[in-house]
Amino acid sequence: MRVVLLGPPGAGKGTQAERIKDKFRLTRIATGDLLRETVRRGTSLGRQAQDFMLRGRLVPDRVILALMRDKIREGVSGFILDGFPRSITQAEKLDKLLEAENKKLDLVINLEVNHNEMISRLKGRVICPECGRTYNKDEFVDQPLICKDCGTHLSQRSDDNPDAIEERLKVYLRHTLPLVDYYKGKGILRSISGKGSPQGVFQRIVDLLYSPGSIGI
Ligand code: AMP
Repeated sequence: MRVVLLGPPGAGKGTQAERIKDKFRLTRIATGDLLRETVRRGTSLGRQAQDFMLRGRLVPDRVILALMRDKIREGVSGFILDGFPRSITQAEKLDKLLEAENKKLDLVINLEVNHNEMISRLKGRVICPECGRTYNKDEFVDQPLICKDCGTHLSQRSDDNPDAIEERLKVYLRHTLPLVDYYKGKGILRSISGKGSPQGVFQRIVDLLYSPGSIGI
């Protein structure tokens, strides 16, 4: 099964992609995580990406595609894509990469959340720099911001600041939202409400994947 998870920043793509990966034994390919890792390692690709990320802009396609090409080929028997594609051009490139392997996408899950919820999630988001687990500050009233899995001190992502958040939302509306119609046209888009608890949203995704006429798992 080859699945894309779409949705605005703060929709919960990372959290849900991780759960889908575990339950359906897929490879999770998350461009944001790959890029942050590349930046941490200080590689040439990382240096090219860093500035765009800090400002909330899209990293140029040549950098993204250099990063994704092999990952897609390696994971082609079953993957969940999180954060890619983010534009029609990237979606067309993805189709071509899959075509070359005689494969195609099975499903695109579009996570829907409203504007206020998105902003409050992004502003409250803290992550574990060690294991990548994501939390909301509200979960830690009067408690230290420490990862419940590995005990590492949690921090905010450098692009979860008001200016970068505003830019990411603009970028989403301009470049990524058109993908909803692109995949609707291909008949593989299903929209799911991203409101509520991570467990509640995940249950809706599982129900969708097991529903008759879905992708036959
Ligand atoms: P994310 O972790 O998915 O929110 O991504 C963080 C940042 O990485 C984005 O704001 C972009 O700057 C960059 N990024 C992630 N995925 C892509 C992509 N497919 N195309 C271009 N830039 C990306």
